[in-house]
Amino acid sequence: MSSQRGNLFILSAPSGAGKSSLITALLKRHADMKVSVSHTTRQPRPGEENAVHYHFVSVDEFKRLIDKNDFFEWAQVFENYYGTSKQAIEQQLAAGIDVFLDIDWQGARQVRDLTPDVQTIFIVPPSKSELESRLNNRGQDSAEVIAARMAKAQAEMSHYDEYDYMIINDDFDTALSQLETIVLSQRLKQTNQALVHHTLLANLLQD
Ligand code: GDP
Ligand code: ADP
Ligand code: 5GP
Repeated sequence: MSSQRGNLFILSAPSGAGKSSLITALLKRHADMKVSVSHTTRQPRPGEENAVHYHFVSVDEFKRLIDKNDFFEWAQVFENYYGTSKQAIEQQLAAGIDVFLDIDWQGARQVRDLTPDVQTIFIVPPSKSELESRLNNRGQDSAEVIAARMAKAQAEMSHYDEYDYMIINDDFDTALSQLETIVLSQRLKQTNQALVHHTLLANLLQD
């Protein structure tokens, strides 16, 4: 058991900007980081697995979880409900694991109010046309869904200035190193280091 709580990070972006790909690639490099698995009422995409990509639930079940106060935050995005359960993050943070929330700006506002030391990162695509071609190339949403997401992209992106960091996901590897830099610098903050290395510091400061 680590003596230090994990750090909490939020990644937000318009759909298709590359949040999921960046988080997945970062987690491959670091065993001590995890992504929170949200609950959603949207239908699974081809290849999406329950409890891996999302906990896929009905609207009734989602509302029951709201009433039970099980959510850390929840929001309605694109006509569906999405939410982070308290259970999805608390155990990991307590075990010293850094946790990423892939959530929209409405959820980010709620988490900031509850956890002021959360670090928030906004990802933008290099252009609107590139965003549209990524959504098309991903090949997982219908033409109607893609059109609806493109129509909402500008409104999503207008919230960029509520975030601590911004990454432009043009070249993937560059964006990945930038994300890694943000996460590693957070770990190097004096207050975090002092908790992790308290024995060393006690020794160094002893007469
Ligand atoms: P994507 O944008 O292509 O990854 O599509 P998704 O359907 O996976 O996500 C739709 C939106 O819901 C995105 O803006 C996500 O950031 C947001 N979202 C996903 N999970 C959560 C959550 O637990 N809480 C909140 N507030 N938003 C979420
Ligand atoms: P999000 O989770 O933000 O909706 P995804 O991670 O699913 O976005 O990325 C959308 C699509 O764009 C995927 O097909 C992904 O492989 C691709 N993609 C992500 N980043 C880049 C990049 N830097 N250059 C080109 N394609 C990318
Ligand atoms: P998708 O349906 O493409 O998986 O996700 C659409 C949007 O919902 C993304 O912008 C994603 O960040 C957001 N989202 C996913 N899970 C959550 C969640 O638990 N809470 C909130 N607030 N937004 C979420």
